[in-house]
Amino acid sequence: VVVCVGQVVTDHTFRVDEVEPPPSKTTARGYAPSVGGMAANAAIAVVRLGGAALFWGRVGRDEAGEELRHVLEAEGVDASGLVMAEGARTPLSAVIVDKRGERSIVTYRGERLPTDPSALPLERLAEAGALLCDPRWPEAAELAFRAARARGLASALDAEKSEERVLRQLVPLADHVIFAKTGLTIFAPNLPPEEGLARALTTGPLALAAVTLGEKGTDWRCPGMERAATRPAFPVEATNTTGAGDVFHGAYTLAIAEGQGVEEALRFASAAGALRARDGRTPDRAMLEELLAGDTD
Ligand code: ADP
Repeated sequence: VVVCVGQVVTDHTFRVDEVEPPPSKTTARGYAPSVGGMAANAAIAVVRLGGAALFWGRVGRDEAGEELRHVLEAEGVDASGLVMAEGARTPLSAVIVDKRGERSIVTYRGERLPTDPSALPLERLAEAGALLCDPRWPEAAELAFRAARARGLASALDAEKSEERVLRQLVPLADHVIFAKTGLTIFAPNLPPEEGLARALTTGPLALAAVTLGEKGTDWRCPGMERAATRPAFPVEATNTTGAGDVFHGAYTLAIAEGQGVEEALRFASAAGALRARDGRTPDRAMLEELLAGDTD
């Protein structure tokens, strides 16, 4: 079981040929709403890949919030830790994907969402094999990380772009910290990525600091390593890279919960991220195992 804590939003995805510079009008070739948000996508990935996931997050008690809860449950995620707040508005994103699969995202983070995490069912960490948090509900992430550390439960942070203060707060509390490129730049401005990862390792008892670099793969570093290593990406033709990072984080944390080592978990997660980028959908376990079996690396 992986407990996933953080963001859930409705993604409104528009497919276009080109994103024109403003002022402009563009006609979409296709449109689909779906569940998005880092921790929610990761939770769905955990289930698709054969694990069980609990999702803890916050939405408004509105139509969009009800729909997100319904979709998470339909995906097989235990959403009983989803806080639905009266008077709050559920976050949403506009995702524009061009014909090369590159995306532009505008996110509305909702309004009047509760900050107090005390409603979360922390006792359920007892069933978990690992914890994954994103930085979009920092109070909840901090509470969950501290509880996990007290129990000796392995934890991972999806260190996406967010306020520097939030990254500084959360990085020392997680065992495995996986930055997005912009997250690492905010955490360690003016440092080359390799040294930024080294700095992250000095903040607490971390087992791994890594940064995902899309098709360039993942640079990673564990305590005691002279320098960072690169886990190359699996070569695929990307059609939609939305959520590749989220799926990567979900897969990585599932691998840790299953007892895989860091290198093995990075390889497993890279395969999951690559398939997501190729197909625009989260792969199932059989697809992932097939890709891993065909890879002699
Ligand atoms: P984010 O979505 O957070 O920006 P990335 O784009 O870095 O994250 O993707 C996360 C991981 O997913 C990468 O480290 C890589 O392993 C995999 N991935 C992403 N895009 C591609 C791609 N075009 N080809 C192969 N693998 C990819």
